Amino acid sequence: MKKYGIWIGLAVLAVAAIVLFFAPGFGGETPAVTEEPLTAEIQLYGEREITLEYGESFDDAGAEAWLEAADGTRTLLEIRVSPAFDPEKLGTQEIRYDAVRNGETLVGVTRRVTVLDSVAPEITLLGEPGERDFIALDNHDGDVSDRVERVEEADRIVYTVSDESGNEAQIERAKDPVLVFVGGESVQIPADYRFVEPGVLAVDMYGRDISDRIEVEGEITPWHLGEYSLTYTVTDEFGRTVSADRVVEVVQAEMPETVIQDKVIYLTFDDGPAAATEDLLDMLAKYDAKVTFFVTYSDPRYVDLIGRAYREGHSIGLHGYAHNASLIYASEEDYFDYFDKMQEIIYEQTGEYTRIVRFVGGSSNSASIGICEGIMTALAEDLTNMGYRYYDWNVQPENADCDIDASFQNICGNAMRICGEGETVPISLQHDPGGWNCLVVERVIIWGMQNGYTFKGIDLTTPEVHHRICN
Ligand code: ZN
Repeated sequence: MKKYGIWIGLAVLAVAAIVLFFAPGFGGETPAVTEEPLTAEIQLYGEREITLEYGESFDDAGAEAWLEAADGTRTLLEIRVSPAFDPEKLGTQEIRYDAVRNGETLVGVTRRVTVLDSVAPEITLLGEPGERDFIALDNHDGDVSDRVERVEEADRIVYTVSDESGNEAQIERAKDPVLVFVGGESVQIPADYRFVEPGVLAVDMYGRDISDRIEVEGEITPWHLGEYSLTYTVTDEFGRTVSADRVVEVVQAEMPETVIQDKVIYLTFDDGPAAATEDLLDMLAKYDAKVTFFVTYSDPRYVDLIGRAYREGHSIGLHGYAHNASLIYASEEDYFDYFDKMQEIIYEQTGEYTRIVRFVGGSSNSASIGICEGIMTALAEDLTNMGYRYYDWNVQPENADCDIDASFQNICGNAMRICGEGETVPISLQHDPGGWNCLVVERVIIWGMQNGYTFKGIDLTTPEVHHRICN
């Protein structure tokens, strides 16, 4: 683009003058009468030379003219300006200011006004393929698209245009599609059971979104900490391909500190919801006692009770979509496939994903031995990486004889002992489908309330109770 400095003229006080002789007796017999000269003068206001950028307004400061007698008396004269300034006309215009008296020009002065166009046209690339994939507009010449020279090169298209004043504009369109990594080429994501793409977009040379054409290569195990390299490739409809790598670092997810709360008992119920869950919830509501349900999808007829329990202030933990060790412990991938399914059910019921877990069979189960070596050790570490807590139990009141008195004694005795030691919290295990639980639980709650205990649901600040993992 060519640039012109705007010439700023010095203020000129232009005073032109002529002297007129008036000789009343001239040609008569008696000359010798002294003539009284009248002087006509004109003064131009503002600058004599003005340079304007096209589109800038011209404020005419005007001119003044007068006749001055010898005694200093002034008579103003009429000024005629011609031609009128034309703001559309590029170049120099000479504008005359004439002092006129009785139709006769007595004195005049000229102003030169130059209008320049130093603004180049603007080329806009349009977002669709075609011969006219651009438009060019100029401030003075208007639409100059017809004057655009469009040159195809191997990797770009170059568009050039000049306006009538010779101002040139050039713009390029790169032909390759562009990959944009949201968050940069190196990102950190917290460990999780599924990989959530941190964000990648692709556009073609016309700026059209072709993100759905992106293909990703590379393995990522989102529950294992570490650095992974992923290769993203996109090919547009013109067959142009670009690839780029991104480093994804899976990092430890955040987890709040645990707090041992004094005289709090955590009653937990596995394998539900089931037929007995409704009565259990009714009874708990009566005492405003809160518990934790480690839920399954074993009986879809009762799935809505997950939502009810959640709304009534109980904690919802994940137990298993399936309860079959040979399915869920076949591999970490299998475990997290079922985990994902159960999370979706919990989400449908509660509006959130849970982060507390109880392994089917507990972390110390031996059922997984022979199915997948070391899987419980791996899963325990994975859940911790993901910012989840898994809970085993340290109170187990159920017994083969369904002896309610024995169960009652078991919970109360162990809760008192564990709370008294103050090293962890009492977490009891019962099973939701067992109808007799309700009777035991009610007795425990009444006893607890009479003895200063409260019953709460597990949350991420509840200390974990872990068994010894044997696989
Ligand atoms: Zn179970």
